[in-house]
Amino acid sequence: MKISVLMYLDSYITDEDLSFAELYLPEVLGERLRGMEEVSEVYYALPEGYSGKLDSVSGIFRITEKNESEFLKRFFNETGSDHVIKVYADSPFLDPEVIRGMLDVHISCHPEFTYSENVPPGYCCEIFSRDLVESLPESSEEHLPLSSVIRSNIHHFDVEIYYSDPDVRDTRLSFRSGNPREKVTMERMLEKHGAVPRYAEIRDVIIGNPGVLFNGPSFIEVELTGRCNLDCLFCYRKTLACEHGDMELPVFMSIVEGMRSFRLPYSICLGGSGEPLMHSQFYRVCEAALKEELLSTIVVETNGIYADDNFRSFLSTAAGGVIKVIVNINGYDRETYRALHGDDYFEQVYQNIVKLKEVAEPGSLYVQIMKINETDTFLDRYYDFWEKTGVPIILQKQNVYQGRIQDRRYSDLSPIERISCWHLQRDMFVLADGRIAFCKQDVDGINARGSLKDTTLPVLFECARNDFLQDYQGSYRTSPDCRSCDEWYTFNL
Ligand code: SF4
Ligand code: SF4
Repeated sequence: MKISVLMYLDSYITDEDLSFAELYLPEVLGERLRGMEEVSEVYYALPEGYSGKLDSVSGIFRITEKNESEFLKRFFNETGSDHVIKVYADSPFLDPEVIRGMLDVHISCHPEFTYSENVPPGYCCEIFSRDLVESLPESSEEHLPLSSVIRSNIHHFDVEIYYSDPDVRDTRLSFRSGNPREKVTMERMLEKHGAVPRYAEIRDVIIGNPGVLFNGPSFIEVELTGRCNLDCLFCYRKTLACEHGDMELPVFMSIVEGMRSFRLPYSICLGGSGEPLMHSQFYRVCEAALKEELLSTIVVETNGIYADDNFRSFLSTAAGGVIKVIVNINGYDRETYRALHGDDYFEQVYQNIVKLKEVAEPGSLYVQIMKINETDTFLDRYYDFWEKTGVPIILQKQNVYQGRIQDRRYSDLSPIERISCWHLQRDMFVLADGRIAFCKQDVDGINARGSLKDTTLPVLFECARNDFLQDYQGSYRTSPDCRSCDEWYTFNL
């Protein structure tokens, strides 16, 4: 029986991503996997566009097919393999113990496909049998990776799901160095642990050193303005201690300048207590942000009233899908809209959305409705109406801001087991006057960490480290009251 390893390079991976702790990962992983007596051969699956150090090694297969099943058919035929272990080349922590465990399951239970749902991708593998690949119909169409196809049609295949402790899904890490943030996290784990942690050890490594997760903000929510022309039923704006004005351009610039020092990709959300499109320099702000190499996404959360022709033409010229627009519209006609938003802009917002749809790239325009008693009565009709426009729908959890506004929820989706707050680890909330709030719940800035007008963003982010560490260890703040907050499990990007 021939069992081969096929080490994949995703199309965005560079040789720099494959360098980890001064080692070249394909070599290190190749050695690690060849050391398993069950493995006959290690091969490399390279995207057509790749050029780099792997060009000259033996056992490479260029992926020229439009879909993975056709590629695997060729691979099985040319190598005579019976089973293929698929791993990713940017997996510095890949653990042969896990691979062996999965292989034992695969060989003893004879499924067509074996995978794991709880072990992160950089620690485990997927195993395909020759029988599976040969039974697939020929196709020249592009489609999702084969494992995604199988998982979404799981009852049509013979599949084994491998489970192994510990479960670290709460960290949302995939342990792949092609993601710069994860690479830094793994470098810090390696430094703390003194060796590549085995999967069995990883939970203890994190618990012993939670600071390895605190590497820089990934999501900056910016309150461009506190002004708005609506009066929504669920809005917290009118509960603020004082009115929030407009953010000055130099304050916004200090955000993007400050983010450069982390050298990590991040997203900006233009949201907060007001309507971002009412800011007189909205387009200048966006243009400044779009020049930043590390910025991966700008999310614009808008009520849609000013998402007019100007905005549409701006969106159509902005770089490929970087701007994502979420239009908060809690209605599907004039009556439902007015009841939730307090005014009669339904037709205007609807027309704006339909026109935006013409220029928006896939995945860059959404309508959002809040999951509360008042929308539950018409949710089916809402879905029917908006699905016809082809704009995807986001169902939003209501944040009651720790009792600041009336709780209108009809279900509680909080997980039973409390984990550390994602917002302390990854987010920053910038108020219109330049203060960095403690977190997104600190909308009056009572526990603000300081102001961008006199302190740099990296220094202000570092102020949150201790709060994150304490929260991770289960010691919750009383102001803001983390004990009564239910936003700890929500996350953005
Ligand atoms: S559109 Fe947004 S900011 Fe304006 S009132 Fe509604 S919820 Fe508040
Ligand atoms: S638990 Fe709530 S109040 Fe505490 S930091 Fe997280 S989001 Fe803020």
